Amino acid sequence: MLRVLFVLMSLLLIMPSFTALAKDEIVVYSARKEHLIKPLFDLYTQKTGIKVKYITGKAGALLERLKAEGKNTPADVFITVDAGNLWQAAEEGVLQPVNSTVLNSNVPGNLKDPQNRWFGLSVRARTIVFNTSVGIEEKLSTYEGLAEENWKGRLILRTSKKVYNQSLVSSLIAEHGEKEAEDIVSGWVANLAAAPFSNDTKALEAVAEGIGHVTVVNTYYFGRLMKKKPNLPLAIFWPNQQGSGVHMNVSGAGVTAHSKNLNGAVALIEWLSSEEAQAQFAGLNMEYPVNKNVDVDPTVEKWGTFKGNPMNVAKYGELQATAIKLMDRVNYK
Ligand code: FE
Repeated sequence: MLRVLFVLMSLLLIMPSFTALAKDEIVVYSARKEHLIKPLFDLYTQKTGIKVKYITGKAGALLERLKAEGKNTPADVFITVDAGNLWQAAEEGVLQPVNSTVLNSNVPGNLKDPQNRWFGLSVRARTIVFNTSVGIEEKLSTYEGLAEENWKGRLILRTSKKVYNQSLVSSLIAEHGEKEAEDIVSGWVANLAAAPFSNDTKALEAVAEGIGHVTVVNTYYFGRLMKKKPNLPLAIFWPNQQGSGVHMNVSGAGVTAHSKNLNGAVALIEWLSSEEAQAQFAGLNMEYPVNKNVDVDPTVEKWGTFKGNPMNVAKYGELQATAIKLMDRVNYK
């Protein structure tokens, strides 16, 4: 009994200091890799004195963890990649709406949740990359065009299991309706040079090796691979420039539904969208800043300018289930 009392008393003694500490500390769950976030969190701590504790993991696993922890979660902020994942997190109720004039001015309307539960912090372009040694650049036009007969046996794709491709197909559904989108994706499958690859880098390597001639990937994978092997016969092509524009997606963040440090969480996300943080946040992964006042990384700039699809990225989440079923019907593995 005395022992229990002692434990209770020491808890009471600890509690106030723990809450005081919590104000100077923010906990982040991040599906974005450590080397892409740590430099920014370090800078934030240096500037504000606020500690940023974080864990990193796979997007799905972190979402499950947030759901399982519920009210008891220590997390204040959730960072993940792809609007499809951000949308999913909001749907599952682990994020809360934030009214921030800073975020509303730094993050364009099409790159955030219409209900303000998540905000894009970097933009990734999912574009066409082709083998430069086969002389096909003038034959390239659009994502839809890759379904045409002349690409038979020449197309390389990443698996449909990856959210990036689910989002891409969602955008086709939003653009053309389900029936026409199905014809396009079925055309892609008919044109495959090999079974779909497990990641974008493997898809790029297959094109470089000539297993196929053309693929669709996020540009930062192209950037990473070319940094390692600058002589690969690969180049970027910006599709749909006469029409809808290049498929755009985001990595982004939201405040968790049960954050114990709401103001701190909002302040961190606001700072990540600021001019001070944006160049690094995007540049570290060779992505594009969401904040229009920030220049793109010099390596990324060399890939040229293009018209991006202005579609609201939240659409990718809304149509995700439809996209997955569609890809299954046409046997896109
Ligand atoms: Fe990625």
